[in-house]
Amino acid sequence: MTFLSVYKTLFKHYGPQHWWPAETAFEVMIGAVLTQNTAWSNVEKAIANLKQAGVVSAAKILAMPAADLGALIRPAGCFNVKARRLRNFCSWFLAQGGEKLLNNVDDDVLRSGLLSVNGVGPETADDMVLYAFNRPVFIIDAYTRRVFSRLGLIAADEGYEHLRHQFESQISSEIKQHNELVNIFNEYHALIVLHAKDVCRKNPRCSECCLRSQCPAAK
Ligand code: SF4
Repeated sequence: MTFLSVYKTLFKHYGPQHWWPAETAFEVMIGAVLTQNTAWSNVEKAIANLKQAGVVSAAKILAMPAADLGALIRPAGCFNVKARRLRNFCSWFLAQGGEKLLNNVDDDVLRSGLLSVNGVGPETADDMVLYAFNRPVFIIDAYTRRVFSRLGLIAADEGYEHLRHQFESQISSEIKQHNELVNIFNEYHALIVLHAKDVCRKNPRCSECCLRSQCPAAK
């Protein structure tokens, strides 16, 4: 069993997921900050509020008083912290020249720039790198750790960067074409989230699992 064979099994079973659910790349970036430690349904309400108020650009977010911004994103939880993080991100985004210029920087420069923003950690940065900028990066989250440790492919307590490199190097050794790699990473993360929420839950539903025949933890 390899990371790529698991991907193929999940994709065959669930089909394409068409992530990230957003109308624009900037909306992906905002959503990546807002989704920290909360359910996506709460993020959708916060984004709907921002859209209704016409606050859908970095300049408009920065022009709005922090308290008003916090009130709009309240459904996403921790709204004062997230308002501060959104403003930090928007300041950096504009200072870099916005999406147009950021689309031209190298993958590593883009990623390290995002990580330099206060409140943007590796998972948030990689959500943006993959889903807003279409760069080939593998996102590691708690669902990834749960599913792949049960499959016996990781130990689960490795550091973020270690795991990211493990997935990226193994999959890219088999997939050489850039766009194909981006598509696989895009679908793979969405499939892992779906599988971990629906089947490989805290209390797994192994009898319904498409990976069951290969899984050492199957019950
Ligand atoms: S067989 Fe069970 S433990 Fe293994 S991946 Fe499937 S749901 Fe998770």
